[in-house]
Amino acid sequence: MGHQLRDSVDLHRRSDSRLTDLGLDRWRDLPRAQTPPWPDPSAVDEVCDVLGQVPTIVAPYEVDQLRDRLALACEGQAFVLVGGDCAETFVDNTEHHLLANARTLLQMAVVLTYGASVPVIKVGRFAGQYTKPRSAATDALGLPSYRGDMINAIEPDPQARVADPRRMVRAYANAAAAMNMMRAYLGGGMADLHAVHTWNKDFVRISAAGERYEAIAREIDRALSFIRACGMTEDEALRTVTLYSSHEALALEYERALTRLSNSQAYGLSGHFLWIGERTRQLDGAHLDYVSRLANPIGVKIGPTTSPDDALALCAKLNPDNVPGKLTLISRMGNHKVRDVLGPVVEKVTTAGHKVVWQCDPMHGNTHESSNGYKTRHFDRVVDEVLGYFEVHRQLGSHPGGLHVELTGEDVTECLGGAQAIEDVNLPEKYETACDPRLNTQQSLELAFLVAEMLRG
Ligand code: PEP
Ligand code: MN
Repeated sequence: MGHQLRDSVDLHRRSDSRLTDLGLDRWRDLPRAQTPPWPDPSAVDEVCDVLGQVPTIVAPYEVDQLRDRLALACEGQAFVLVGGDCAETFVDNTEHHLLANARTLLQMAVVLTYGASVPVIKVGRFAGQYTKPRSAATDALGLPSYRGDMINAIEPDPQARVADPRRMVRAYANAAAAMNMMRAYLGGGMADLHAVHTWNKDFVRISAAGERYEAIAREIDRALSFIRACGMTEDEALRTVTLYSSHEALALEYERALTRLSNSQAYGLSGHFLWIGERTRQLDGAHLDYVSRLANPIGVKIGPTTSPDDALALCAKLNPDNVPGKLTLISRMGNHKVRDVLGPVVEKVTTAGHKVVWQCDPMHGNTHESSNGYKTRHFDRVVDEVLGYFEVHRQLGSHPGGLHVELTGEDVTECLGGAQAIEDVNLPEKYETACDPRLNTQQSLELAFLVAEMLRG
């Protein structure tokens, strides 16, 4: 081994042992749900040694910046919009797909910003959303369940479903490429407000939501002309947008390998915002222990069985210093339960003085199987859960801080309803998701218009 290489390995070992001192390996001894069935643990270690030394996907200062911005959402001075695929896949990690998803998210953000006059913090489910929790270890065919491209392959074949740690390297490479491309496009004027029209896809423009969007785009043009006519200088903020990356922190091996020390603190640098899912939020479990030691803003999904005391315990564990913006609780209770379950949770947490961002995921509590066997969601139930969430917060005087949706920029037929009135029989026309059904662009825009109205109150 040459001197330089030896130095860099030594440096890595030293900083890594400091992470261990900070407790970043404690999760290994704790009960862990959804552990990937790795056939060979030593192969996992080899991969993690490699990932421990690669350039990270995001930088610590960006993570801090997002946490500070989320603090505004805590106080009702900003709204967070999180959206993207349920599961990213390696084959769909293309320029076309990433840009289509980003445009749809940015269009939603324009509608919310303009329609409700509120700053919108934009967060994509991208550049790392490659793992999925599963409710059963085997699927309908009796094969090991697909756990996301980071773990195994979706093909219904026993060999393809064997967990392969080398996939973590591919996931990292894909995430790095995705983040790099998005940074370049966004920095290069893709999200320039002067070009809002060009984000409207042809297949959407002719729809009711697309027409409403064009109307907003025209108003924005007029506002920009007004600014110019007054001789005011236009700010850089009109030409660029920051899009933060997020994913579920499920594969702890991957998360640990991409954690780095900065200013004596541990940062999970696989993405800006990391969340813990409904199936892995056990208080004494590995996942919560791990993220509790990171400086990142952290989200936790809270389902219909969450008690007010559960929520309180999450706050104590994940944000003991009560830093605003540090913790986001993402309710996903289903439209039939949100009005009953969320209120007491919000009330208890608020009364205890805990600062959290309250985000609504109206997707995961509203999944059902269609008459022809597709996993789907009805647009009306999605809208109704968001409505219930707003009602609860209005009643309690707390702040509805954000929306978390599964969407795509393609004109898929995965969710029912909306102005297109997608029905069960239409689902097979363009059903492409690797996991859960996503809102298509028109449904996403329709939802944004409705949420803008709710935000205006
Ligand atoms: C998800 O966000 O894709 C997910 C699995 O959510 P939840 O943990 O809320 O079921
Ligand atoms: Mn999902």
